[in-house]
Amino acid sequence: MSASEAGARLDPARVRADFPILDLQVNGKPLVYLDNAASAQMPQRVIDRIVRYQTREHSNIHRAVHYLSETATAEYEAARRSIQRLLNAASDREIIFTSGTTDAINLVMHGYGRKFVGEGDEIVVSAIEHHANIVPWQMLCEERGARLRVIPVNDAGELDFSAYRELLGPRTKLVAITHVSNALGTVVPVADYIAEAHRLGVPVLVDGAQAAPHLQVDVQALGCDFYAFSGHKMCGPTGIGVLYGRAEWLERMQPFKGGGDMILSVTFEKTTYNGLPFKFEAGTPPIMPAIALGEAVDYLLELGLANIARCEHELLAYATEEVARIPGLRVIGTAERKAAVLSMVMEGIHPHDLGTLLNEDGVAVRAGHHCAQPVMARYGIPATARASFAFYNTPGEVDTLVASLLRARKVFGLS
Ligand code: PMP
Repeated sequence: MSASEAGARLDPARVRADFPILDLQVNGKPLVYLDNAASAQMPQRVIDRIVRYQTREHSNIHRAVHYLSETATAEYEAARRSIQRLLNAASDREIIFTSGTTDAINLVMHGYGRKFVGEGDEIVVSAIEHHANIVPWQMLCEERGARLRVIPVNDAGELDFSAYRELLGPRTKLVAITHVSNALGTVVPVADYIAEAHRLGVPVLVDGAQAAPHLQVDVQALGCDFYAFSGHKMCGPTGIGVLYGRAEWLERMQPFKGGGDMILSVTFEKTTYNGLPFKFEAGTPPIMPAIALGEAVDYLLELGLANIARCEHELLAYATEEVARIPGLRVIGTAERKAAVLSMVMEGIHPHDLGTLLNEDGVAVRAGHHCAQPVMARYGIPATARASFAFYNTPGEVDTLVASLLRARKVFGLS
């Protein structure tokens, strides 16, 4: 089905036809792809866009006047405007292409952190962050003699807002917080956290890697200062991601990387930096991945993020209900508001063994700490088996997952 035919209600069974990889057989069984939080699949339309770019449009951008360079430049900048629409950013100058969420967070660490964070200052993160939103801040704290403060989480996976308010203070220089937890699925009410930080004039970075593919994100309504996400979790390719930054901050920040394209003029005495967004896009950027991400974003916008959210919410509710009747299975992350993630541990079976057994039935889940070791430590477990959903997953696939989990119990001699 073409995305434009999609009605208000998404039919995953019909949307699946857009994704050729979903026809694969794995171990003689139909693939049940439930590893979308790690990377989502790519619709034919995006694959075709890559082929069109490489066969009809490829050239380096921004630096030439010939036909191909002008075409590639126009398409690259059109992709930027698609991202602007997705996030409802005030200007396309606020959309910076990066190589992914990790790169986007590191950009803020270098561009903002190394300029504005000093000895004795504090950076607030939460207990449910991905390593990508912990380690850069730790590195900065170590370098600057600053301190990392951590918002605690309750047993359900919800952050403690009143503890957060107490952590904020005159030394706080940045809040860096996830929108949706990749390990637990918790949707954090980030607008409240942002409003609270702004009362003290503290900027907020939101890690949107797990939110942008599943929720309607409006950076102006949220009021965030930075918002980061990755293309490969949004039906786009790897190697591309986005940093949204509020222009007033981006203008005050120092560049992350130095090189071509991010300058206006260079002499051996002095370099003048380019304006936004180019000041933060040094060197030849990932042109094809950016254009492909633009196409993926147009596809998601045509399906409608609100429709996607509703469809995935129903699927997660169904899966949560179904796995509840499996003996010995515990869901890690039971927050009231969750998106697309079902993290599980099964008594008597290590998550890695569980993942291997599910794979025998063609079911792809991820077993591990999900780059969130502090989350695992908080719940006293080494790892989970995580099923993560996309709008192209079906209730029938949930049934296959449940049947496979029950089979795993039999294989391990558990009743
Ligand atoms: N933050 C979150 C919440 C994530 O889920 C991920 C990817 N697992 C990242 C950051 C890092 O994304 P990337 O590896 O694409 O840079």
